[in-house]
Amino acid sequence: MNKKIDILSLTCEQLELKILEIGEKKYRAKQIFYWLHEKRISNFSQMTNISLQLIDKINLNFYINSLNIQKMIVSDIDNTVKYLYELPDGEKLETVLMEYEYGNSLCVSTQVGCKMGCSFCASGIAGFKRNLTPSEILLQIYESERDSGRRADSIVLMGIGEPLDNFDNVIAFLKILSDKNGRNMSLRHVSLSTCGLCEEIDRLAELKLPLTLSISLHAVSDEKRNAIMPINRRYNIERLIHSCSGYFKKTGRRISFEYALIEGINDGEDSAAELIKLIKPLHSHINLIPINKIRERGYKKSKFIKEFQKRLTEGGLNATVRRTLGNDIEAACGQLRRESN
Ligand code: SAH
Repeated sequence: MNKKIDILSLTCEQLELKILEIGEKKYRAKQIFYWLHEKRISNFSQMTNISLQLIDKINLNFYINSLNIQKMIVSDIDNTVKYLYELPDGEKLETVLMEYEYGNSLCVSTQVGCKMGCSFCASGIAGFKRNLTPSEILLQIYESERDSGRRADSIVLMGIGEPLDNFDNVIAFLKILSDKNGRNMSLRHVSLSTCGLCEEIDRLAELKLPLTLSISLHAVSDEKRNAIMPINRRYNIERLIHSCSGYFKKTGRRISFEYALIEGINDGEDSAAELIKLIKPLHSHINLIPINKIRERGYKKSKFIKEFQKRLTEGGLNATVRRTLGNDIEAACGQLRRESN
């Protein structure tokens, strides 16, 4: 027996090829794609403009993937909702829905666990299990929207995992998400965050997608960055900045940098001065993050966040401090999945 195909992981062009392969007309693919991604059907028999005969054939060749909500926590203070989903193979992933003045933002995961080993991040502590498929990334949006009744105005690839370490599936996900026959989301409302996989940043630049690329920088000397982010030993800061300026030149899109302030590690006057020197030529935005405490690590939130921001602003950088949401429900980086194991 042939293995059924995960239809929600196919881009519209890939679905067209598969539909031709099973001897049907190409235009059927767009109809089916619309039912799946705009109507969000859970069963092929819900496609009322497709004959029963063709539905039988589709049932033989494809299946519709799904995610189950295993746990959901709503913040009492700011409406943040955190979902823990169970995947068909029993693995868990988490998704966080946040409310900002400009709308709802959904933070999605791209891998089960993470290989990158950043010392301040909870995501990697339980180790790496596997990549998420395009449908598993996409379904976090569909299922969270369905359950909450809120539409995500923006998507951030900042949940568990390193998106550029799952390059092909993330790109397929972005194509499906932005397809006019489906969810039709402009990639201008999507941010992809990476710890700095330079070869993949270069590959991404070639695709010229209008998304916002965020770089998790967190330190400005190789010595300090090596100590908290192992990826820096593969691609040092000079190499990273080289890829960033290449990305900016190729796509015309300004990069955003993330910098989590950790007491006594990267929050001093010297760090602010080096950061200005490094980032200014890229005309980038910098987002300062008050570090979230993780039980296993001794890092503390910096006491000098406002001072640090002021220094950057005076040095000519566009620097903001990220509002912390979902504080009461541990909505930060891998905490819920870890607790459920
Ligand atoms: N792997 C990607 C995306 C996932 S992490 C990346 O590294 O960018 C999303 C963001 O949360 C990153 O900027 C990451 O550095 C940051 N982060 C991880 N742990 C954190 C913590 N304890 N406190 C504050 N930010 C954290």
